[in-house]
Amino acid sequence: MEQTLVIIKPGAVQRGLIGTVISRFEQKGLRLAGMKMIQLTDAILSEHYSHLADKPFFGRIKKSMMATPVVVCCWEGLDCVQVVRSMTGVTNSRNAAPGTIRGDFGMSMQENIIHTSDSVENAKIELARFFDTDEIYDFQPAAQSFLYASDEK
Ligand code: ADP
Repeated sequence: MEQTLVIIKPGAVQRGLIGTVISRFEQKGLRLAGMKMIQLTDAILSEHYSHLADKPFFGRIKKSMMATPVVVCCWEGLDCVQVVRSMTGVTNSRNAAPGTIRGDFGMSMQENIIHTSDSVENAKIELARFFDTDEIYDFQPAAQSFLYASDEK
């Protein structure tokens, strides 16, 4: 099944929202396939946010992402990338729809609670960036047959 990367950002760590964010995805029915707390570095952030390298706020967002350790998670489910992205909400938390994580917990463009991969292709690249293969666990959820119909794979 499809997998995606979620990074619980320093703002959410400091505000005591780690458990709340994880609960959202658990309650949705996604499987947590990997999780760890790590300290991000300038080097890994320069790679991860390379699409923003020419923006004036590039240095500032890297600094914000290094302010505390973060929690990186690998979530799995059918169409997981799109499901997690829609649960995340748009980049600017003030415009994010109520019910989304950014919409419910954020007030900022920069301090927007979580990072989530924006495409299936990027999810693969980003998971490989933050996880070794032996840190992603493959186990069968006991409730699988109640989460999906037999033709949903
Ligand atoms: P998203 O995280 O929604 O996929 P981007 O990949 O465009 O958005 O940006 C990465 C992160 O950089 C955002 O989540 C946000 O924290 C920060 N960011 C993006 N645009 C701005 C901006 N104009 N001002 C401040 N921070 C920004």
